[in-house]
Amino acid sequence: MNITRREFTWLVGAGIASQSLPGFARPEERRVGYCIVGLGRIASHFMPAIVASHKARITGLVSGHRDKAERIASQYGVPNTAIYNYQNYDEIAHNPDIEAMYIALPNGMHAEYTIRAAKAGKHVLSEKPMATTVNDAQAMIDACRKANKKLMIAYRCHYEPTNLRAVQLIREGSLGKIQAIESAFGFNIGPGEWRLDKKLAGGGPLMDVGIYSLNACRYLTGEEPAFLSATCSVIDKDGRFKDVEENVSWAMKFPSGVVASCNTTYGAQMEGFYRVHGSKGVLQVDDAFVYEGLHLTAKIDGRPAIDEPNTERDPAHFIREADHFAACILENNEPKSPGEEGLKDMKLMMEIYESCKKNA
Ligand code: NAD
Repeated sequence: MNITRREFTWLVGAGIASQSLPGFARPEERRVGYCIVGLGRIASHFMPAIVASHKARITGLVSGHRDKAERIASQYGVPNTAIYNYQNYDEIAHNPDIEAMYIALPNGMHAEYTIRAAKAGKHVLSEKPMATTVNDAQAMIDACRKANKKLMIAYRCHYEPTNLRAVQLIREGSLGKIQAIESAFGFNIGPGEWRLDKKLAGGGPLMDVGIYSLNACRYLTGEEPAFLSATCSVIDKDGRFKDVEENVSWAMKFPSGVVASCNTTYGAQMEGFYRVHGSKGVLQVDDAFVYEGLHLTAKIDGRPAIDEPNTERDPAHFIREADHFAACILENNEPKSPGEEGLKDMKLMMEIYESCKKNA
């Protein structure tokens, strides 16, 4: 994630504008039609963002539950003729109001519904993790490329001002030479979730929330890890972790020499954060990966302490994400978090699992 000061200022300005001026009259812009695939928790954050967006609208829904889909369709003004299920999904090809698919399904379904979307001539915004295998991730990239359609992975933090501010402070050298990063993210999962089924999830907390720490280390340093070592464990023998790991801890070294250590869990509430230690100071972002309430603090030699709470409310992050992809489609630009970005994390997560096997 390379950003200039100008881009940073613009992004923050754009976010504040869309948040604080809800009734502000703007000339009507062409809006990209999004079809929402999977009407679960994350979709319930994304859909209000589309309503608040000036670049997007909801033009279709895909669900296995017709009643639920009809209820949501009437709420968002989607015609019943634009409600699809997983069997007749390919008929989206005949609906010109649908330009982009937002894939909000369990991880193991992202590849199939992305590839079918590309074949139907639609752009795709897929939730993270992009897929559950490197081969599937590559197949998603290939299918979208072949169909000449755009593929973006929904890395919210790439479009969110507090994370962008952390990147800016590091890039402009405020912290001096970066030496070490610590990061963590996890939660105590309940039983019966698809997230505990390896076929649907691909893995445990690493695939779900550890990916935020992994991705953050990459955008904070602007580097790819040259070395990694990991270990996994299961502490709770209560039936939840028959298929996937409960805890993962991994260490990375980047080509510059920056070292990073990360933890993720499905066995404890672990607020997402990162701390970056540089030769001139330390920066920390608390609640770094959630939808609101992010908080950046930094102590830098010779400067007043930095204390920047993010006061934006949900769904501000999702508005930026939806707007960015819509703008890419309207202006024929490549997204800042394309399929290739998701593939890099997929490869690294597979390396982490390989290392866990060696260090079992
Ligand atoms: P969820 O369980 O709340 O929703 C999943 C949806 O998929 C449901 O509507 C469900 O009916 C549907 N579905 C279709 N086939 C299914 C099947 N075989 N098993 C289970 N569900 C099936 O999940 P969620 O929390 O919304 O997560 C969906 C995706 O979004 C995941 O890939 C997750 O990693 C990602 N996610 C991203 C963020 C983010 O901030 N970017 C946050 C949470 C989740």
